[in-house]
Amino acid sequence: MKSLKPILFLLIFVTNGHSFASEKDKSFQEQSMLSVLYVQTSTEFAANNIQTFNNASKALDIALQDKSWTAALEQKGNFASKIPAIIVDVDETVLDNSSFQSRTILSGLSYPNGWAKWVNESEATAVEGVYEFLHYANDNNVKIFYVTNRLESFREPTIKNLKKLGLPFDDNVNTLLMRVDENVRDKTERRKNIAENYRIVLLLGDQLTDFISTKEAYVFHSDRKKLAKKYSDMWGSKWFMITNPTYGRWELSIYDEMPKSEDEAIQKRKETLNP
Ligand SMILES: [Mg+2]
Repeated sequence: MKSLKPILFLLIFVTNGHSFASEKDKSFQEQSMLSVLYVQTSTEFAANNIQTFNNASKALDIALQDKSWTAALEQKGNFASKIPAIIVDVDETVLDNSSFQSRTILSGLSYPNGWAKWVNESEATAVEGVYEFLHYANDNNVKIFYVTNRLESFREPTIKNLKKLGLPFDDNVNTLLMRVDENVRDKTERRKNIAENYRIVLLLGDQLTDFISTKEAYVFHSDRKKLAKKYSDMWGSKWFMITNPTYGRWELSIYDEMPKSEDEAIQKRKETLNP
């Protein structure tokens, strides 16, 4: 598989996201407009999310009955008697940050500009259907772990936001596992740690890395797409993917070489289109 250089990509697109953004010329950020409008206005998006969480509730019923069931590739050994748990990602799986995305389009300034301000407001809404699903899990004595790449420094406003939405949150156990090292986005270790004490029955996320390692997921888009098929037995039974058309590793995977400017990125996007 063609492997990308994740650190280089992170530097350009994430850490120095502002290098690909301009208050004067907003046209680059405006390329996200339809995907953000899809998230914010379409009933199709809302219905799709309700559909996903309804199916996840049904899968949970089956998973709780079957003690040999685990959803985590990291889960090894004898786990039949362990307490059942689910792992949910936070951003765009539980919390809807499309208001932040809207701001980036209107300002012309991309992530991480304004991200800290947005997170500290604790005003994200809940993704459609997640409230009912998480309460269903909680009512069935399933431990809920929120595993997010939000930085540890955002712990307080994140908990505040989850609680404000009335989502189940256990203060007695550390159920919010954040990104401790700015450079480590892989969630494998965190899943492994949870698997030591719990039987992980479902995984839910909006990025491939909410299910598998960054090592496997950080590849060129043509190889990356094959991973959906590789895990075809998992989707809709143990793994549930929330659609996120607004951002993510899927976008970075279209660049085989790092674009050096907005124009070059747009050119790459056009070249990737399959007419
Ligand atoms: Mg996410």
